[in-house]
Amino acid sequence: MTIASTEPLTRAACEQADAQDPLAGYRSEFALPEGVIYLDGNSLGALPRAAVERGGTVLAEEWGRDLIGSWNKNHWFELPVRIGEKLNRLLGGGDGGCVATDTTSVNLFKALAAALRIQAEDAPERTVIVSERENFPTDLYITEGLIELLGAGHELRLIDAPGELDGALGADVAVVLLTQVNYRTGALWDMVETTRRIHDAGALAVWDLCHSAGAVPISLAGDGADFAVGCTYKYLNGGPGSPAFIWASSRHLGRAVSPLSGWWSHAKPFDMAPGYAPAADARKFLVGTQPILSMATMEVGVDLALSVDQDALRAKSLELTGLFIRLVEERLPGHPLTLITPREERLRGSHVSFRHPEGYAVMKALIDQGVIGDYREPEVLRFGVTPLYLGYADIWDAVETLRRVLDDELWRAPAYQTREAVT
Ligand SMILES: *Cc1c(COP(=O)(O)O)cnc(C)c1O
Repeated sequence: MTIASTEPLTRAACEQADAQDPLAGYRSEFALPEGVIYLDGNSLGALPRAAVERGGTVLAEEWGRDLIGSWNKNHWFELPVRIGEKLNRLLGGGDGGCVATDTTSVNLFKALAAALRIQAEDAPERTVIVSERENFPTDLYITEGLIELLGAGHELRLIDAPGELDGALGADVAVVLLTQVNYRTGALWDMVETTRRIHDAGALAVWDLCHSAGAVPISLAGDGADFAVGCTYKYLNGGPGSPAFIWASSRHLGRAVSPLSGWWSHAKPFDMAPGYAPAADARKFLVGTQPILSMATMEVGVDLALSVDQDALRAKSLELTGLFIRLVEERLPGHPLTLITPREERLRGSHVSFRHPEGYAVMKALIDQGVIGDYREPEVLRFGVTPLYLGYADIWDAVETLRRVLDDELWRAPAYQTREAVT
């Protein structure tokens, strides 16, 4: 039985679904405040309890007591590679290489530059990068910046809808950069089928997994991806600003060149050699000294993700997002809420978004009522559903709170009308 077909839909039915939920036990792994329903794990994941202890140990014992010896003794030096290997497993990276490092923006720069360089050698007539106008802005900003740096010749071609992809895939396309799950709408690209079309057109596929890693089962090697990047502070619960990752397929790993030839990417960093010689493996994508505190606590989130059956996670995610949509539509009639997330399960990631003309004020009022989602331009109420720490009754309660905010027009309070720096 799935909740989508339960009649009538009641809070008791949601509680019953919680009682039968095989992932329910994961909630106690997270330190969430009482009285809060956290629907923003797609922007900043929740704190895993074990990260508190890990952070304390790294600070007090590893830094405080072992000092610089920790690079060897406590394996700090290996952290980006060790976590990269875990992420490679989580993301089905096969024989490809992955390291945890830097930010998604920086890793995107490296991945795009490496992919363009491969194409410059194999197919120099290909100079176009295709992406979506609706992509997360940094992906487009970084692409534009790289194009400018490369000088004349390269071009960014943006599509306005998934259906326009094939038309954009001309003989001049070098690389296609897509984000698997759209940050605003939650729309999901079919990675295997899309990558096949990209390859058929002679281009390379760079996938941004920011809104899918830890939320959607991923098989980078099986799906034929060429390069991938993504962050760990969203569904992987790595913590604010925790290092991102970069992955290269085994087809490209040996030959890929990172444009940021920092000493950590050197084959033998501690030879302190005057000349640059990159590592042959994924370490070639490192740049400089890693943020060890953040990386160490982030590993806890990655370990949690690895312990979860990704298909069970996906099944629950679809149940909860489907429940959210159904409840809003059944229980909040008459309000100007427009679903912008695909209804079809195979096209949906793990968050649900509705437009509302007073979206910003509505979200602020909702947050004051203990339901934390977020707001994205234009007019978008975004609700991230992290199956590890959310249950069915949480979704019921969140939608009931939204109903109260709208029915009682709580959003009209003056305090909710002004914008803060981070929305
Ligand atoms: C969250 C997100 C980013 C964030 O990039 P940072 O460099 O970590 O700030 C980039 N791209 C997409 C698609 C995202 O969703």
